[in-house]
Amino acid sequence: MTRYIDVNDLSQLVARKGLSTFIGEMAEYIREDYLRWNDFEKCPRLANHSAEGVIELMPVSDASLYAFKYVNGHPKNTQNGMLTVMAFGAIGDVETGEPVLLSEMTLTTAIRTAATSALAARYLARPESRSMALIGNGSQSEFQAIAFHTMLGINEIRLFDIDPRATQKLANNLKGFAELRIVVCGTAAEAVCGADIVTTVTADKAYATILTAEMIEPGMHLNAVGGDCPGKTELHREIVEMSRVIVEYEPQSRIEGEIQQMPADSPVTEFWRVVNGEISGRENAADVTLFDSVGFALEDYSALRYVLQVAREFDIGSTIELVPELTDPKDLFARLIPDTVVSQKKRA
Ligand code: NAD
Repeated sequence: MTRYIDVNDLSQLVARKGLSTFIGEMAEYIREDYLRWNDFEKCPRLANHSAEGVIELMPVSDASLYAFKYVNGHPKNTQNGMLTVMAFGAIGDVETGEPVLLSEMTLTTAIRTAATSALAARYLARPESRSMALIGNGSQSEFQAIAFHTMLGINEIRLFDIDPRATQKLANNLKGFAELRIVVCGTAAEAVCGADIVTTVTADKAYATILTAEMIEPGMHLNAVGGDCPGKTELHREIVEMSRVIVEYEPQSRIEGEIQQMPADSPVTEFWRVVNGEISGRENAADVTLFDSVGFALEDYSALRYVLQVAREFDIGSTIELVPELTDPKDLFARLIPDTVVSQKKRA
C-alpha cells in the first residue's frame, strides 16, 4: 500500500511541528542530501513549454529511493483565481519499484524552496545580515520571509510588488511575527536600498529586469528564485557578471537560471561544493553573492523524505491501493470485477 498525503494532511503535519521547525528540519534534510551529492543519479528536469507556461517532471534517485515531482509554472493563472505553481510528487522503492508515497507538493514546494534559499544564504550571506528586501509578494513570499527570519535572524523585511494587494496580504500574514519589522516600499529600488539580502520571487514569462546593477551594494547576497525557465529571468546581465554565482545543478541552471544570459563557460560553483566545504561561499565582506535558484529535484527528494518521516511519526495521511494488491502476483486480471468484464464483453 502507498501512503497518501493530501493538502489537508500536509497542513496538519505543519501544524503539529510548527512551521518554523518544519522549515528548519526540512533544510537539514536538504543539507544532508547535498552532502552526498555523488550518490545521486541526476538529470535536468524535463520541461514541456506552452504559450502561457510550463509543465515539468523532476526525477532523481539514489540506491534506495526514487523521487519525482510534477510541477507547473503559469504566471497568468492568478488572474483566473488559480495558483501560478501547483505540484505533486512521489517516492518509490528502488529495490522493488513499489510507490511508497504519493503527496501534495504545492505547499511542500513553497516550504522546500524557502528552506533551500535560507540554507544557501547561511553559506553565502554575511553572517551579520539582518535586513532583507523581498520583491514579489505572491504565494512563495511568506515562506521565504519566515525561513529567513527563523533560520538566519533576519528581523527587517522590505516588501515590494507591482500588485499592492499582494504586499498587503503578505504584511497581514506576517503580523504574528512580533520581532519582524515590515517595511512596505513603493519601488524595487527603495526595497533594495540598504538591505543585506535581496530575494526576488516574481512571476513573469519574460526577460524581466527586477534588479539593475546600480541597485546592488557591496556585500549583498542575492537570492534569485523567480527566474527558473528559458526566457524567464529577473536580474540584469551586469549583475550576474559582477557576482559570485552559486547554482544548484549546472546542466539545468545553464538552461533555466539567470546564467542563461551568460556564455556557456561563465564561472559558476555548484552549491554542493560549498556545503561540503570544498569551495567557500563568499571570500570577503564586499563580495556580491548570487544564489541563482531554479529548484532542483534533489530538494524535492529531501522534502518528500522528510514529509514521509513526519507522516509516519504522527500517523497522518491515508494508505491507498495505488497499485493492485494481489494474492497471485501473476494474476493481475483477477483484480478486475469479473461481472463488469463479462457484461462489457456482451455489450460489445
Ligand atoms: P505568484 O504568481 O503567486 O506571485 C508572483 C508575484 O510576483 C505576484 O504577486 C506578481 O504581482 C509579482 N510580480 C510580477 N512581476 C513583478 C515585478 N516586475 N516586480 C515586482 N513584483 C512582480 O507566484 P509564486 O508562486 O509566488 O512564484 C513566484 C516565482 O517563483 C515564479 O516565477 C515561480 O516559477 C518561482 N518559483 C521558483 C522556485 C525555485 O525553486 N527556484 C520554486 C517555486 C517557485
